Amino acid sequence: MIEIRINSVERKRIEALHKEYTKKVIAGRLEKILGDKTGVQNKGKVLYFLQELFGYTERDREKQLVYFCISDELEKIIGIFEKRFFDSFGFQFRDAKNEEQKATAEDIAYILNRIFYYDGFNAGSRIAGQDGEKHVWNRHRYVVATKVKVCPYCNRQYITSYESKDGTEKTTADVDHYYPQSAYPYLQMNIYNMIPSCNICNSKTKGSKDERHLNPYKDSSDSLLFEVLLDNIDMMYSSEIERIAVNSRGNPKAIASNEVFKLDEIYQAHIEDVKRLFFHIKEYEAFKEDYYMKTMGLDMGNIFSLWFDFLNDSPLEKPLVKLKRDVFKQLETYCGIYK
Ligand SMILES: [Zn+2]
Repeated sequence: MIEIRINSVERKRIEALHKEYTKKVIAGRLEKILGDKTGVQNKGKVLYFLQELFGYTERDREKQLVYFCISDELEKIIGIFEKRFFDSFGFQFRDAKNEEQKATAEDIAYILNRIFYYDGFNAGSRIAGQDGEKHVWNRHRYVVATKVKVCPYCNRQYITSYESKDGTEKTTADVDHYYPQSAYPYLQMNIYNMIPSCNICNSKTKGSKDERHLNPYKDSSDSLLFEVLLDNIDMMYSSEIERIAVNSRGNPKAIASNEVFKLDEIYQAHIEDVKRLFFHIKEYEAFKEDYYMKTMGLDMGNIFSLWFDFLNDSPLEKPLVKLKRDVFKQLETYCGIYK
């Protein structure tokens, strides 16, 4: 898992655009539903709940919706929702026991999906930016704004945004809802619950699993480390490295990341990259004896930056950077490689 760090200027810009979208689009949907007298079961109770949750005046509701969509206090939002839901209906939203409770939870989920309506964010809307100009704000623009170019969950797949010939915006990125939409429908439009990711991590491995794995917006990239198992330094010079191990460092979220995204399994496909890294370290050590420098006219610094270029790369821009860095760091302590 790679931590996504957005600088404060860009973060403010994203939050401002998303705030405008929430006020213009999402708040409008809530008001429409509150004013609509048809089409909702148990209307009285649902209306009461929506007002308890979001507020009794239009202004309060707008403010609360903005909080639900741009705050990074996801656990706090969950706490607010669950308390209001329990107070209104007498059971936990995610723990409906009988048919009646299930029907109520489904009604509420249906209403929340209509209000937040993540699918509508694909097309987005034109909204006013801080510069006074109108900007298109949609899923594509959001992914571009995060500057994430490689999946933060696996660090294997590129996610690329581009404009097609007809001018429509395309992205090969999925957006993973850290807290899945099905269990937390009120967080489906929260920007810090939307993690740009590859399709394999989002759909094939994670699916709708509700696990507290590492969160790229909250957790450090070092929460989980790739390593090779070495009994002694001699192993480094043999070609017997057979397995890349995932060290979860006893962190339950890292253990969950490893399980949800199948890191331990999929990373075995990259054993050759690790062997090449070993080879380069070994050769680099030999070059200290200088015959290669003389023959090629290269200096050690050049060779170092050529072979160990990943030390300067961002793992959010290039695949496998984390694997190479972690293993390099591990070996550094074994063989004391230096520039
Ligand atoms: Zn991925």
